[in-house]
Amino acid sequence: MTTPRMDAFWMPFTANRDFKQNPRLLSRAEGMHYWTPEGRQVLDGTAGLWCVNAGHARPRIVEAIARQAATLDFAPPFQMAHPLAFELAERLTELTPPGLNRVFFTNSGSESVETALKIAIAYQRLRGEGQRTRLIGRERGYHGVNFAGTAVGGMGPNRKMFGTHVAGVDHLRHTHDLQRNAFTQGQPEHGAELADDLERLVALHDASTIAAVIVEPMAGSTGVLLPPKGYLQRLRQICDKHGIVLIFDEVITGFGRLGSPFAAQHYDVVPDMITAAKGVTNGTIPMGVVFAKQEIHDAFMQGPPGIELAHGYTYSSHPMACAAALATLDTYAEEELLTRAARMEGKLQSALHTLKGLPNLVDIRNTGLVGALEFAPRPGAAPGRRAFEVFLGAWNKGVLLRAAGDNIAISPPLIINDSQIDQIVSTLAEVIPTVE
Ligand code: PMP
Repeated sequence: MTTPRMDAFWMPFTANRDFKQNPRLLSRAEGMHYWTPEGRQVLDGTAGLWCVNAGHARPRIVEAIARQAATLDFAPPFQMAHPLAFELAERLTELTPPGLNRVFFTNSGSESVETALKIAIAYQRLRGEGQRTRLIGRERGYHGVNFAGTAVGGMGPNRKMFGTHVAGVDHLRHTHDLQRNAFTQGQPEHGAELADDLERLVALHDASTIAAVIVEPMAGSTGVLLPPKGYLQRLRQICDKHGIVLIFDEVITGFGRLGSPFAAQHYDVVPDMITAAKGVTNGTIPMGVVFAKQEIHDAFMQGPPGIELAHGYTYSSHPMACAAALATLDTYAEEELLTRAARMEGKLQSALHTLKGLPNLVDIRNTGLVGALEFAPRPGAAPGRRAFEVFLGAWNKGVLLRAAGDNIAISPPLIINDSQIDQIVSTLAEVIPTVE
């Protein structure tokens, strides 16, 4: 197969010049595997990009999409609708924590974040608290790349290039603590007190100015950072005390990654809104979701008749995405995939922790079917270089992993079996010692 011309495509979050010298292309996928255009088989250790939870090319989902494309390809979503959108919303609320039973559709995680933040601000206004516009995120949080998500996000490189355009944003400190928590299996013991940062920000700005706090219950993209025991509970208490809307960004943790449908259930903390995307359609058709507590939704339904929320997207509740999502939910249910990570956690944990002691490895983290290895930065080298070389080494040996800063993230499809976990870990055991 000839390599395509590569000049025109400006690739996202990619070192374009390096990549085009040494491209990594995928041309087919099925089950747990990708294949390159040359026919090389690669084990998918990242569920695509944290999204292909049921594995690739599942026939039921493929057929649902094809059937929908031929039946109703598009329907306008404003002042019009199609039946699958209602069916999907109802089905989704069977998976959410009690009370989170209203569903707004978007097309991505980033759009879900913008939507949830706008709803939080509008909700505060509707309940007579219009001065509450401040948004609080967390260092090392990732909430997509649109303006508000970039602002509440806590990744320097993603923010610095663009200046500050969303005013009134502040951040909690992150909870990652190698000193106290390195090599913890499962949830770290230390750091619940970091939730009190929110009290500090309340003291600084006054609660009457704060609309919402958004956190990932488990931060994925910045290296699989688990919440310390008690941290999320404490955040919930402080939000309750001060009338602050608590949003969990579950774009990665939603749909079974931790062994429950959502991290909210896994950690037994119910936020006021949940943002999701990715796994809702098994990564096949772009779709995002915002789940809101009924009381938030109902606050919008009190005014005079008319459009209650001046917000939405052309492709909100797209028929093909709805069909893909319904088939995905059927697949998750039939194969009990949304709880499978809980059953596989012990296997992934014991396999990953055999790597302890390998050179430059400063932490191993895991929960459900997600894990991370953290490497000491190489002095004088670009940040994240060691992790990137481990990623390259694994790719060359037929395993796709993800480099995230100094971390290698492992988040396979939830259908992974024991021997495939062993393949990932033995590949890492071979590659890590070869990276200087
Ligand atoms: N929030 C979180 C927690 C995410 O992990 C991501 C994507 N990895 C996003 C938002 C953005 O999602 P998208 O790339 O679909 O816009």
